[in-house]
Amino acid sequence: MGIPLKLSGVAASEGVAVGPAYVYAPRGPRPAGNVPEGAVEEEISRFRRAVEAVRERLSETAARLREAGSGEEAAIFEAHAEIAGDPELAAEVERRVREGREGAGAAVLAVGEEYARSFAAMDDEYMAARADDVRDVAAQIATELVGGPSSGIEGLDRPSVILARNLLPSDTARLPREKVLGFVTAEGSRTSHVAIMARSLGIPAVVGVGEELEKAFGASVVALDGGEGYAVADPDPGTLELFERRRRRSDAEAALLKEYRHIEGRTRDGRRIEVSANLGSPEEAEEALSWGAEGVGLFRTEFLFMERDELPSEEEQYAAYRRVVEVFGERPVIVRTLDVGGDKDLPGIDRPAEENPFLGWRGIRMSLDLPDLFRTQLRAVLRAAAHGNLKVMFPMVTGVEEVRAAREHLEECRRELEEEGTPCGPLEAGVMIETPAAAILAGELAREVSFFSIGTNDLIQYTLAADRGNERLRRLYRADHPAVLELIRHTCEAAREAGIWVGACGEAAGDPGMIPYLVRLGVTELSMSPPSIPRAKKILSEL
Ligand code: PEP
Ligand code: MG
Repeated sequence: MGIPLKLSGVAASEGVAVGPAYVYAPRGPRPAGNVPEGAVEEEISRFRRAVEAVRERLSETAARLREAGSGEEAAIFEAHAEIAGDPELAAEVERRVREGREGAGAAVLAVGEEYARSFAAMDDEYMAARADDVRDVAAQIATELVGGPSSGIEGLDRPSVILARNLLPSDTARLPREKVLGFVTAEGSRTSHVAIMARSLGIPAVVGVGEELEKAFGASVVALDGGEGYAVADPDPGTLELFERRRRRSDAEAALLKEYRHIEGRTRDGRRIEVSANLGSPEEAEEALSWGAEGVGLFRTEFLFMERDELPSEEEQYAAYRRVVEVFGERPVIVRTLDVGGDKDLPGIDRPAEENPFLGWRGIRMSLDLPDLFRTQLRAVLRAAAHGNLKVMFPMVTGVEEVRAAREHLEECRRELEEEGTPCGPLEAGVMIETPAAAILAGELAREVSFFSIGTNDLIQYTLAADRGNERLRRLYRADHPAVLELIRHTCEAAREAGIWVGACGEAAGDPGMIPYLVRLGVTELSMSPPSIPRAKKILSEL
C-alpha cells in the first residue's frame, strides 16, 4: 500500500465508497470513415500534440534512467524519442491525412508499418532491429490519439472504485452497475452528464479532481465521499475508520429521509408541487417509484440507446416508453425527444466534428434535420401514449418555428398511425426552456404548448457563457445568478399568463438551496435524480 493521497474535486453524487481501485481507460472509438474536409487541420493539430506528448514522455523516461545510471536503457528511450520526433514520419502522416483524409491514428500506424518493413528488409542487423522500435513508437502515438493506454471494462472483475480521466455518458452506460462502487474522474463538473448519471444510478462520485488523479493510478484501495467531494487513494487505517463512520451517518440520514419518500410533494402552506424523477433508461422506472417519484419529469431518451451500435427501431422504442408509462400508471411521464450532441454522442448518427458542440447540432435542431429519425421516435411515443399518461417535450428550442415544425411532424405521425389503424393515445407537448432565447420568448412559446420544463443545466451555461463541464468556471456557473433567476421568473410569468404549468428538470430542481427559489418563482413540478426525491419533499414540507 502506498502513501495516502487526497484528491479534491466536485461533490458529484452523494455516498461513501471504499474499494479496490480500477483504472478505466478505454480506447476511444476511432472516427468512422474519413476525416471530413473541415476537420483536417484539427486532426493534424491533434496528431502534433500526440507526437509531442509521446516524445516528451520518452525523453523524460530516458533522462530518469540516465540519472539512475542505466545508460543502456536510457539510449533505447532516447532513440524512441528521436523516432517520435522524426520530421519525415510526421510529414508522411500529415500528407495522408490531408490527401487521403485518413484519421491520424490509422495514418501513423500505416506509415510506421511501411518504415518498419523497409528497415526489416535491410541487410544491416542494427537497422533491421529498428523495425520494432518504429512499430512501438507508432503504436504509442496512435494510442495517445485515442486518449491514453487502453484498459476497458473487460478487466473489471470485482466491485471496485473506478478511476478515469473522463467518463463519457456512453462509457458510464456500459459499466456493469454491480461492479461499480463509485468513481473518481479528472474531468467533469456537477452538471456534466457523467455526474448526472452517477446521481440517477445512486453511485457515489467525485469528479473534476484534475491531473492529480494520475498519481492515484497505482493505488490499490480508494475511499471516496461523493457528498464532500474528495477521495483518498491508499487510505491509512485512521482514514478508513473515518469513512466507515461517514458511511454509518449517511445510512442514518437515508433512514430518516425514508419517511418522506411516499408523502405527496406539498409546501407547508399547502401548495402542491409534484416531485418527479429524471430517468435515463426504462430499467430505472421501478427504482424511481420506490424513491417516491410522483411521475417522470424527464426521460432522457438518448441514454437508452448509447450502449448499442445502431439506432433503435420504432418497435424497440415503443417497448421502452411503454414499459415506463406502465410502471407509472396514472402518473405523468414526460419523454424528451432525442438530445444528442454537446457531450453526448450516439453511434449510428454520422455527425461532423464541431468546434463548439454545445453550440452546435443538438436537440431539436438535429431532429428536424433528420426527419426519419425524429418521426420514428414520435411514432413510438404516440403509440406508447395509448398505455398511460404520457407527454412529450422538445429540447434546445430557440424559437416558435422549431416548435411548430416539431408539432407538425407529431400531427402527421398521428394521422399516419390512425390511417394504419395503429392505436395511439392523447399526447400533450411541451418545450424545454434551456436557452435564453426560449426564456425570452416564453410568452410566444406558451401559446404553442401545454407546459414548460426549465432545463437549468443548459440555461445556466448559455446565459452565463460558462461551459457546464468546465470546473474552472464553477464560481460563475450558478443557478442563483440574478440573470438566470430573471429568465426563470420571466418564463413562469409568461406561463401563468398563458395558463400553462412550468416544471424544472435541471440539476437545480433537486438542489436543496434552489428549491425555495424555484417554488417561489412559480415552478409547480420538480424533476430530479430519484435518490434526491425524499430530501426535496422534506424541504418542501418545511417551506
Ligand atoms: C438541462 O439542460 O437542464 C437538462 C435537463 O437537459 P440535459 O442535462 O440532458 O442537457
Ligand atoms: Mg439540456
